[in-house]
Amino acid sequence: MKARRKQTAPPPPEAGEARIAALLAEKRLFKASAAFRRQANCRDPNVYARSARRPLEFWAAWARELEWARPWKKVLEWKPPQAKWFVGGKLNASVNCLDRHVRAGSRRRTKAALLWEGEPGDRRTYTYWDLYREVNQFANVLKRLGIRKGDRVAIYLPLIPEAAISMLACARLGAIHSVVFGGFSAEALKDRINDARAKLLITADGGYRRGSVLPLKQYADEALAACPSIENVVVVKRGGQEFPVHIREGRDHWWHRLLQDAPAWCPPEAMDSEDALYILYTSGTTGKPKGIVHTTGGYLVGCLATTRWVFDLKEDDVFWCTADIGWVTGHSYTVYGPLAAGTTTVMYEGAPDWPARDRFWDICERLGVTVFYTAPTAIRAFMKWGAEHIQKHDLSRLRLIGTVGEPINPEVWVWYHETVGGGRCPVVDTWWQTETGHILITPLPGLTALKPGSATFPFPGIAAEVVDAHGKPVAVGGGYLVLTRPWPGMLRGIWGNPERYRAAYWSRFPGLYFTGDGAKKDKDGYFWLLGRVDDVLNVAGHRIGTAEVESALVDHKAVAEAAVVGVPHEVKGEAIAAFVTLKDGTGHYDELVEELKEHVVKKIGALARPERIIFSADLPKTRSGKIMRRLLRDIATGRALGDVTTLADPSVLDTLKGRYAEDAE
Ligand code: ATP
Ligand code: MG
Repeated sequence: MKARRKQTAPPPPEAGEARIAALLAEKRLFKASAAFRRQANCRDPNVYARSARRPLEFWAAWARELEWARPWKKVLEWKPPQAKWFVGGKLNASVNCLDRHVRAGSRRRTKAALLWEGEPGDRRTYTYWDLYREVNQFANVLKRLGIRKGDRVAIYLPLIPEAAISMLACARLGAIHSVVFGGFSAEALKDRINDARAKLLITADGGYRRGSVLPLKQYADEALAACPSIENVVVVKRGGQEFPVHIREGRDHWWHRLLQDAPAWCPPEAMDSEDALYILYTSGTTGKPKGIVHTTGGYLVGCLATTRWVFDLKEDDVFWCTADIGWVTGHSYTVYGPLAAGTTTVMYEGAPDWPARDRFWDICERLGVTVFYTAPTAIRAFMKWGAEHIQKHDLSRLRLIGTVGEPINPEVWVWYHETVGGGRCPVVDTWWQTETGHILITPLPGLTALKPGSATFPFPGIAAEVVDAHGKPVAVGGGYLVLTRPWPGMLRGIWGNPERYRAAYWSRFPGLYFTGDGAKKDKDGYFWLLGRVDDVLNVAGHRIGTAEVESALVDHKAVAEAAVVGVPHEVKGEAIAAFVTLKDGTGHYDELVEELKEHVVKKIGALARPERIIFSADLPKTRSGKIMRRLLRDIATGRALGDVTTLADPSVLDTLKGRYAEDAE
């Protein structure tokens, strides 16, 4: 690799607390620079009006960017709640992500498709041609093992290139992949394999996490004891593992052995636009995960459109979406979206604080990342760890940064913009769900004036509203977030459970898709996500979103993260209990409790004053990093804990229970 020029860009502005407070107080709108706006992929403000008038034409124009084996006859067939997009069309997702880019004449053939880095520091680069070859070969392997169109294949891997290769190989054959996050237990894997009745499992001997190796094959063996549908297991050798790997003759096969004599080309299956591409289980923040089904045509169209316009990707960008491939974000914005768009996508196997707290920034600098997409939970951790880890690195190549997964507190937004984005990168706060397949509410970085903490507006072609309890749109104010028209990447159902599909999304407001999230529209029409409606607080008859109170707490200089829940109260109906994590190096002092309560009162009003504040070094989170308020509520009300299978670290709960009881004394 050529030596890169030393940094010439000015150092990032001082992200001191005073400066952040001043920026927030200014209530200024953040606009991209004129230079950014001029080069943006989407710079025509009329797209909103035009796409609202003719949404189907808008989506059809995007669909024409893909390669179809047979053109569609009709853009949309809508029999609520069943949508069909690009009806009659045939295409293959792997052809659109790979073959298109390696054909004679394409300049992408030798371009890096995937830049991968393992936690121990090993690296691999795949050109589009390399990836194309491996996917074809592995598709032939799967075929030999009896996998055909419509079969389900479970993928339980660390974040290594074989994960993306497996997904695309399934897509090539028309097999339905079901990726299970590599950090899940044997129990969670078993449930997901059985729910989908998967025929084959792809796993690895192990994967690195914080310096140690997770014995994935051992977990898989435990799960497989109760998975009668699995006929074959393919095992990737991640290498250097210090524990024995049991290979069961006849059932288990090493990936590298199978690949040795696999033919180099595998004809792609022409899939109906509405054939299933994958099943993916939701994060399980609110309860038992749902097996969300996505189909081929509409999903790819939605991923492509949002990748191009939200992330503004150009031919020479290096795009890093830090999500694990076990989540929908990894599906849509590490694999399908970026590869369909012909981008260079980055994948990193391990933890952000291994071997040190600057690992992400070290990767950004070394790989020359230009567009970076992560989650609020990670940003809050970076903020807690301190800016020095970031300022050590040359991040001058970054030109756009994004976030997804939870509401981002305005304070955290401004910190991210200043410290990571050097004050020059637009921040795209993107709202979407496993169910929606792709981003739905988001800024367009070359057009939208940003407000810290707001996901801003529905993407062109998307119809979202905030409605009241009767389903009537609210012009200004809070309510329930719904989608009023179908969109291309929408889920087509819950695997094996059509009744739950109707009940969960289509019964609360007839004819409207209910997201389960609360939101507010301000006088400028900006959307503000307020948290899940199940978590909304009801104090003395007033409904308050969790995000508002939490943001008021995080606005205090000592606080890194906060979660609030409602606990029954004789007078007010509900009182607010706040669980608060302080920034590193902040001492506990008795006055802080009162100070924080006052801070919330000052920001929101007396109504939102927390009754109790409990300090905690950690909060219960899902394995995708989202705060699980329902478990905090269980603790605060002394109830038995609900489903904890998707919890990242169960020991957090015991500590919290102790704290809560102590505090009550
Ligand atoms: P489950 O549905 O099983 O409870 P989950 O909702 O956490 O799990 P995901 O599909 O991964 O599973 O998450 C989608 C949810 O994440 C959204 O419904 C919303 O609550 C939250 N979310 C995602 N992006 C944003 C964002 N930019 N701002 C606010 N909230 C967001
Ligand atoms: Mg959900």
